Amino acid sequence: MNLHNLNDRQLEAVLHKEGPLLIIAGAGSGKTRAMTHRIAHLIDEGVRPWNILALTFTNKAAREMASRVGTLIGEKTEDIWIGTFHSVCVRILRRDIEKIGYQRSFTIYDTDDQQRVLKELFKRFEIDDKELSLKEMSAIIGDAKNKLMNADDWFAQTRRDRRSQTIHDLFTAYDARLKAANALDFDDLINKTLELFLDHPPVLDYYRQRFLHVHVDEYQDTNMAQYTFVKLLTEKNRNLCVVGDDDQSIYGWRGADIRNILEFKKDFPDAKVVKLEQNYRSTQLILDAANALIKNNEGRMDKSLWTEGKKGDKIRFAAAGDEREEAAWIAEHVRRLRSRKVPLSEIAVLYRMNAQSRVLEEMLMRAGIPYRVYGGTRFYDRREIKDALAYLRCLINPDDDIALKRIINVPKRAIGDATVQVLEDHANERNMTMYGALRDLPDSLGSRPRKCVESFVDLMDTLKAKQQEMPLGDFVKLLLDETGLLAQYENTTDDELISKRDNLLEFLGAVYEYEKLTEDATLESYLENVALVTDLDMQEDAPQFITLMTLHSAKGLEYRAVFIAGLEDGLLPSSRAKQEDNRLEEERRLFYVGITRAKEFLYLSRTRQRAIFNQASFNQPSPFLAEIPRELISDEYGKTMREHFGEYKPPKERVRASQRPPKMSFGIPGMGQDPGQIPGVQKGFVSSIADSAAPVSQIFTEGDQVLHKKFGVGKVVGTSGKGAEARVTIIFTAYGEKEFSVAIAPIVKVN
Ligand code: ATP
Ligand code: MG
Repeated sequence: MNLHNLNDRQLEAVLHKEGPLLIIAGAGSGKTRAMTHRIAHLIDEGVRPWNILALTFTNKAAREMASRVGTLIGEKTEDIWIGTFHSVCVRILRRDIEKIGYQRSFTIYDTDDQQRVLKELFKRFEIDDKELSLKEMSAIIGDAKNKLMNADDWFAQTRRDRRSQTIHDLFTAYDARLKAANALDFDDLINKTLELFLDHPPVLDYYRQRFLHVHVDEYQDTNMAQYTFVKLLTEKNRNLCVVGDDDQSIYGWRGADIRNILEFKKDFPDAKVVKLEQNYRSTQLILDAANALIKNNEGRMDKSLWTEGKKGDKIRFAAAGDEREEAAWIAEHVRRLRSRKVPLSEIAVLYRMNAQSRVLEEMLMRAGIPYRVYGGTRFYDRREIKDALAYLRCLINPDDDIALKRIINVPKRAIGDATVQVLEDHANERNMTMYGALRDLPDSLGSRPRKCVESFVDLMDTLKAKQQEMPLGDFVKLLLDETGLLAQYENTTDDELISKRDNLLEFLGAVYEYEKLTEDATLESYLENVALVTDLDMQEDAPQFITLMTLHSAKGLEYRAVFIAGLEDGLLPSSRAKQEDNRLEEERRLFYVGITRAKEFLYLSRTRQRAIFNQASFNQPSPFLAEIPRELISDEYGKTMREHFGEYKPPKERVRASQRPPKMSFGIPGMGQDPGQIPGVQKGFVSSIADSAAPVSQIFTEGDQVLHKKFGVGKVVGTSGKGAEARVTIIFTAYGEKEFSVAIAPIVKVN
């Protein structure tokens, strides 16, 4: 095998034979390349492909790794297990899950299914969602599972008050519901594998003997469950190679523990450590920006990226009036890149939140630039697609209550909520699933609903029979017709319905495509494939598109030109993250990940005003912007830059991020109004309202239009007192009536 295209350090890692190995280095320094070459080299040296396991973070990364290893060693690659933690665990569970009381045909519940289960339980437990929200509840469950705790373990480490008791009971019921439905959520995939390993040592032994060499890429983002999985597998033979960059740990909020990589030496004192410093991806200028930014984080391994490559173009920056202007600026620069012969597949637009994509999409569409969005309202999250998938899931796993309930009356077939309730009660009474109840209808069911249910059961039976004798694609086509899923969107001029129909057809296309590309395509394997396509993973290879995605999904990837949009305080860093110290550092790392995706061209932008989630907000620039040396930024936009830095004064002596007072983001909830339309307010004006009080010289009179920093637009309805005692009463559109001291409230008159 050709090892010439590696530097000495990479070579050291590749040639390392037995025992633990840590490759730690900054972005773009060839970590992943070292890992793929190492795998290929092991095989060259006579290690059998099935003795190698390689774990990555996304399916896309796994595919890429397989293809890179494939170019090095050819078809032997097929026998190597290369996959995400989730997909590898699914594979293990499909073989042996019966040992821990599930059936092999188990279903994988995604976030949406999970929410449905919780919603029902909230109803059953009569939870007031002001006290506990669905989101909170699923976060608690996810967090506990990542830390390998079940409901009881979780409860034991709380204050054990009433609230904890409620959460505990919900958690327990949730797990019981999944178990009854023969379903696992994403976290369960790993936890149940661990359970299997621990309760059935021969199974663990089998995999220990099988996987003689274990590799983990992006190790900085492993959580405790994943860490334990790796540790268990490698405890005996200790041939573990982990690869990562502490500066790119961006999943702390999902339980990833950066200490896993920082303390690898503690776990494996004899580990060989290889540090890579030379960067092969980006220009020196881009690296300078990345270095300057990331050195503001505490508690990291000190490293600095450098390249032998060229210095490169300066960073382009825009401070746009609003998100449309920002999107237009991006579209314009994509056009220019195109005329400089940069292929669209080498351009990416990155952002913090999925919701930011909509406006970008609209603008790109107008500019005639083909694009693809990854994540967000991804295709498989759309209602009509979920309906079709639910049918398929029911056919494979009839005990999947969530799927069954989703479709029992879709399209409408006169099985109303009342009937469903009767069936559900019946199922609960008899301690069986809904499917069981359908086959054993309760006497209390009236004759009309009984007929409807019976014909639904007939439909499902017919489908099941057909499914077993037809090829996958043709079967799905038949299903869309027979169930009436397609027909419900037929003969209509309603655009929304038409697009739902188009989506279903697109779905059918996807199934056919899958069938074409997969040997032995079965309904089971297809469903698994869909369930594992997480939001990190929508990246397909499509040379003719530019790519839109969140910063989180961009990890490990590279593009010649990268745009990072929405560099605003409250967006990046997100307003939630700003409330916690370590989260702020994680946001900085996220920005670092974004910058280091760029090979040649980097574009940064922010807006003064942004409407997101149907709310207007006026944001300060991201504090991270001030951490990038000015001389790295093109003065093509000198004016906007001066404006920008004029507004945000970087502290003279750098205050440690953790000591910096939290900056209030200038959100005006519920306002949704363009300040340009409020009489007397010019664009950009609002953002100049200081945190401080209105000048005392302001005199308000009834009827004045005002703007309050937090409460938004309001109207003065009363005044009292004078001078320092002056008070004003205001009615706000979104918050009702409030009274303020004129001397200290952040209010300005706008007429
Ligand atoms: P990230 O931290 O973003 O995951 P990484 O450290 O895994 O980055 P790679 O993706 O392996 O880096 O490599 C970055 C780029 O540099 C790739 O295009 C790769 O092909 C190239 N590269 C890596 N090592 C070398 C080398 N020795 N000579 C030339 N090019 C290299
Ligand atoms: Mg990598």
